Amino acid sequence: MTACDFSLAHYRDLLRAAKEGGYRFAGFDRAPREGDLILRHDVDLSLDGALAVAELEAEEYAWSTWFLMTRSVFYNLASAEGERAIARLRELGHRVAHHAVWPNVDLDDRFDPVVAWHNPDPEYMEQPIPGAVNVMAAPFFDRERYRSDSNQHWRNGCPHDDLHEHRFEWLQLLTHPEIWAFEGTTMRETMESMLDADRAARFEHLRADRIDLS
Ligand SMILES: [Zn+2]
Ligand SMILES: [Zn+2]
Repeated sequence: MTACDFSLAHYRDLLRAAKEGGYRFAGFDRAPREGDLILRHDVDLSLDGALAVAELEAEEYAWSTWFLMTRSVFYNLASAEGERAIARLRELGHRVAHHAVWPNVDLDDRFDPVVAWHNPDPEYMEQPIPGAVNVMAAPFFDRERYRSDSNQHWRNGCPHDDLHEHRFEWLQLLTHPEIWAFEGTTMRETMESMLDADRAARFEHLRADRIDLS
């Protein structure tokens, strides 16, 4: 077991702790049951970060639900890269859902009919969404059975021990892949790592776009 940091190594520990604690992976297609671990990922910033975590989960025989944005300023889901990311997530056995920005819901056939709002305000957080599951409403949301890693901070501590000891009846665990996939001991450092990787990736996009970089 590695220290409780936000690294891929410790994310792997979390998955193993959950398995040793007797949890099974579940999604948003039926009400939670005793022993369910619902892994949810909101992809705010980086498809590459998402794929790094998705590949690791597949190595650990885990699967999760990925919430992807359609109007992000950080990535383009309609690009070839975005389409490849969706295809790879599905191929690995994950589920793909929609990370929506109020009030726009762009559900189409790329997504399962499941929505997680990005940075929701309390007024609409739990409101029903026509034709879709709202992950922050009953039966999927329950304060005692929900943990999230917002800005490299666990409000109630890292859940690996509670998972290992099976202290949750069931759990919705929200993690943001960028936090785990890129290195840094603070959010600032992690974002710097992400931007360094992004710059390198954009150089490749320029090359692919036949830009003269000589
Ligand atoms: Zn931990
Ligand atoms: Zn978000």
